[in-house]
Amino acid sequence: MQYVPFGKHGFDVSRLGMGCMRLPTMEKDGKRVIDREAAISMIRRGIDKGINYVDTAYGYHDGESEIVTGQALKDGYREKVTLTSKLPVWLVNEEKDMNRLLDEQLKKLDVPYLDFYILHALNKGSFEKMQAFGYKKFFKEALSDGRIRHTGFSFHDGKQAFLDILNDWDQWGMAQIQFNYLDDDKQATEEGLIAAGKAGVPIVIMEPLRGGALANPPADVKALMDNHDVKKSPVEWAFSYIADYAEVATILSGMSNQQQLDENIAVFENLTVGGLTDGDKAFIKELKKAYLARIPIGCTGCRYCVPCPNDVRIPDIFHAYNENAMLGQEWKWNWNYRGMTEKGTDASKCVGCGACEGACPQGLPIIDLLQRIDTEYKNK
Ligand code: SF4
Ligand code: SF4
Repeated sequence: MQYVPFGKHGFDVSRLGMGCMRLPTMEKDGKRVIDREAAISMIRRGIDKGINYVDTAYGYHDGESEIVTGQALKDGYREKVTLTSKLPVWLVNEEKDMNRLLDEQLKKLDVPYLDFYILHALNKGSFEKMQAFGYKKFFKEALSDGRIRHTGFSFHDGKQAFLDILNDWDQWGMAQIQFNYLDDDKQATEEGLIAAGKAGVPIVIMEPLRGGALANPPADVKALMDNHDVKKSPVEWAFSYIADYAEVATILSGMSNQQQLDENIAVFENLTVGGLTDGDKAFIKELKKAYLARIPIGCTGCRYCVPCPNDVRIPDIFHAYNENAMLGQEWKWNWNYRGMTEKGTDASKCVGCGACEGACPQGLPIIDLLQRIDTEYKNK
């Protein structure tokens, strides 16, 4: 396992972090719950093999993740790791909720303090709410009474929102962002990541494999890898791209079984900051290009075409369709489109009024596209 300093906090962190969002599960009383024995064994195995960063959150696994993570960290494991959990900002309706939720989370984890307590999944709107509730005052109190050691935020919005949050406080302890070689120009973006580094805010990465999709590329992308002179697995290409950045402290992977854990640990044995050659970087750009070339509909997601009078979710349909074409995740497309069908917002509800086409800056033949997509889905 490789380790790097966690920013200027004075301790090192393993490049691979244990994300407790996708722990092993099992069926119990008709419900999907965490397989506690398997989860605890996996978390401890990861720590035994050198992982020293553990990430959980209030909402993961319907609230069960914090309890099981806490159980896994008994018997001396807590002292071996940096432990992070997240304040569910969507449950904060008044100032005192922040203290109440932190206390509840410490109790669930059964620990006296958290190393990092971070605002969960911030976007422009939720951050403005946290500003209004005085997040800095809350953090300062929790830091001084010892319930937390460092602060931070995780993030899902665009670059400007990220920079605004970053620049709002000079005492952020870290920022957690979604970043991978397909998404380096989305959400916080590479520019945001570098800005955080310059501000002395270490970065924690989530979704390094884009929910697992980059681990299983479609055949043509995989063929590029197989025929390349430098041999790396799809997972190695994805992780090595991120590990190359000095701004990145740890890379979270939501592992669901021991095999994934062992494979990831093996990959991280060799990943160093600045470890990619110029040739590697150029090849990763080629991979990204190959993925993007698979996108059939040039919808930018601007949403000028909605609302549709018949409630057709035009940009969402195009997005899900494009994602499937790009990543080859048929099951996800079927699941998404079925959901829209059940809600009556799928492509078949289009009556061809044309209102959307006039509003589309890309000049897309929306009506035809919707018809084609719906026919394709039904003929499968
Ligand atoms: S053409 Fe179809 S999708 Fe477009 S606004 Fe009219 S009903 Fe909605
Ligand atoms: S207006 Fe056109 S480009 Fe924008 S979201 Fe709608 S279909 Fe996509």
